[in-house]
Amino acid sequence: MSTKTVEDRGKCEIIPDLCKGCGLCIAMCPEHVIIRDETLNRRGYRPAKYVGHGCTGCGICFETCPEPSAIIVTRLR
Ligand code: SF4
Ligand code: SF4
Repeated sequence: MSTKTVEDRGKCEIIPDLCKGCGLCIAMCPEHVIIRDETLNRRGYRPAKYVGHGCTGCGICFETCPEPSAIIVTRLR
């Protein structure tokens, strides 16, 4: 078994209070690294949440999100 770890190619940050919980980013992420948070945000929605690893920086979640500024995607390499 290989012990080599693969560095993430991207990072996804979701601002909980700007999310309206529509779930589009969760459905569209090809890596399945966005989930729904258990707790409600200030708007009363369960916001999307990045699991913290596995993002490729593809930007699909950002392109899909109807809420400007709710998602920030960074390409790391
Ligand atoms: S940038 Fe791509 S891989 Fe990363 S969380 Fe968004 S949709 Fe998923
Ligand atoms: S697409 Fe945007 S508004 Fe919809 S769940 Fe994801 S972050 Fe929230």
